[in-house]
Amino acid sequence: MISFRHVNKYYGNFHVLKDINLEVDEGEVVVIIGPSGSGKSTMLRCINRLEEITDGELFVRNIKVNDKKTNINELRKNIGMVFQHFNLYPHRTVLQNITLAPVKVLGMSKEEAEKKAMHYLERVGIPDKANAYPSQLSGGQQQRVAIARGLAMEPSIMLFDEPTSALDPEMIGEVLDVMKSLAKDGMTMVVVTHEMGFAREVADRVIFMDQGKIIEDNTPEAFFKNPREERARTFLNRVL
Ligand code: ADP
Ligand code: MG
Repeated sequence: MISFRHVNKYYGNFHVLKDINLEVDEGEVVVIIGPSGSGKSTMLRCINRLEEITDGELFVRNIKVNDKKTNINELRKNIGMVFQHFNLYPHRTVLQNITLAPVKVLGMSKEEAEKKAMHYLERVGIPDKANAYPSQLSGGQQQRVAIARGLAMEPSIMLFDEPTSALDPEMIGEVLDVMKSLAKDGMTMVVVTHEMGFAREVADRVIFMDQGKIIEDNTPEAFFKNPREERARTFLNRVL
């Protein structure tokens, strides 16, 4: 589904991604962990071309992400993204937030888009909030709306960039539960998170990044029990 082949990226002369090689298969849940500034967000953002790679190759399904001929909207239809800050439109209701892209980008009718939106609001457990505005919701509920909004495009991949980092502790569980259920249903997911319990329980693979490099790509069992590298060990000792 996703393939990084010798990908490098620079911001000016700062080498942010160093020879990244990563394959994500259909239905896999890959969790990316690592210290702040190690390039996790940048790597995720390259996948839907919010950032350009400098060299190497990057494929999403069979689409070459950085080819001039690649239609960026076609590419992004495959990929849902959920950010740390929910990025909901404050002056639109929950339902309007979710139906906007299906109507505008997919050309769905308003009725069909609303039906779909309600389906995904059920999926994330808050159908009763359809007509609320984001400011009337808790952080956990807003993040669940953001997930429903991503799902409403029916992408084949979901990317999550620290989706629970901005939440009060008591709301983290409800968002992780939604993500767990998506994983169980076979969604292909790449998740940047500091939630080690989630990584241990849900990930098929854990990727540890440091200073722009993938240091370890392993099963959660092996990684948490006995990380190969000292840097990973130090990181785990800090976060666990
Ligand atoms: P992480 O998500 O692991 O914390 P990021 O991918 O956000 O790391 O950032 C990696 C490094 O790249 C950091 O040193 C950050 O300051 C730098 N960086 C991120 N975005 C930009 C940008 N748009 N321009 C220049 N440097 C950036
Ligand atoms: Mg980040």
